[in-house]
Amino acid sequence: MQVDKIILPKQLLTKLINHAKKSSPNESVSMISGYIKDRIAYAEKVYTPENIDQSTTTFTVEPLTLLEIYTEIEEEGRVLVAIYHTHPAPPQPSGTDRRYMEVNPCIWLISSTQNPEKPKGYLLEEKGNLKEVKVSILN
Ligand SMILES: [Zn+2]
Repeated sequence: MQVDKIILPKQLLTKLINHAKKSSPNESVSMISGYIKDRIAYAEKVYTPENIDQSTTTFTVEPLTLLEIYTEIEEEGRVLVAIYHTHPAPPQPSGTDRRYMEVNPCIWLISSTQNPEKPKGYLLEEKGNLKEVKVSILN
């Protein structure tokens, strides 16, 4: 995935934050579908599956739920542009995140629960470099 920036409508960000707050203190995970054009990812739809780990440090989506989400994204002609989750700490990918980023090569959006309105975006490039992706909130 070749992306420099993600454009996230404010209403989708609100949905992500609400899901994170509802799941607190456990970690929450959301998936964002949309499309990519000229190295820009456009977020169009948010999925808020349950974190079956019920953990404050990890997340797992039930495999059947994950399959349903992927199927719907494909049927709607979209792609998975980003995976969103929150950290109680600064929004930097953890070691575990980096391993999952290798198998899920989309944008990883991370919010600090201290400041959820300002998510940070990351992409793991093929060489293994962590690249920051600009996050643009659209009002
Ligand atoms: Zn994380």
